[in-house]
Amino acid sequence: MGNEKKEDVSEIAARKLLEDRGIKIKDIAELVMYLQQKYHKNLKMEDCIFNVERVLSKREVQNAILTGIQLDILAENNLLQEPLQSIIKADESLYGVDEILAFSIVNVYGSIGFTNYGYIDKQKPLILQHLNDKTSGKCHTFLDDIVGAIAAAASSRLAHRSARSE
Ligand code: MG
Repeated sequence: MGNEKKEDVSEIAARKLLEDRGIKIKDIAELVMYLQQKYHKNLKMEDCIFNVERVLSKREVQNAILTGIQLDILAENNLLQEPLQSIIKADESLYGVDEILAFSIVNVYGSIGFTNYGYIDKQKPLILQHLNDKTSGKCHTFLDDIVGAIAAAASSRLAHRSARSE
């Protein structure tokens, strides 16, 4: 029971952080739709939302959200030590830990997730384009990868489930 309670705390905190950083469940579900609509003819927005919700209920995913967004916020407020402060604030492309952290989300639903993640990370559609706008003054070094990874994981989940029901 102790664990169950802790999970609730993590899930609530992770969801609140996403919301505070301007990310709605619908934004992530739209990325799932973008990734999956060519494979599932009658894919509905509610199916995409459902799968995003299931991904957010996983502890590994909550941990990645809590860690990554915390680092974004600290960097945005110049509260990290150097050299990490400058690296994260500048979103240096060779840093790479943001992507490694995102892999812990993608990993939850197996290897299709990596393909989806790679694709969406290259295309940067919808909300990801907005997150990559460096002129906002916000630091989204971790958030963009986290959002892309949740969408990729939800897409894999959706693909696995529909393959099983066919
Ligand atoms: Mg990044």
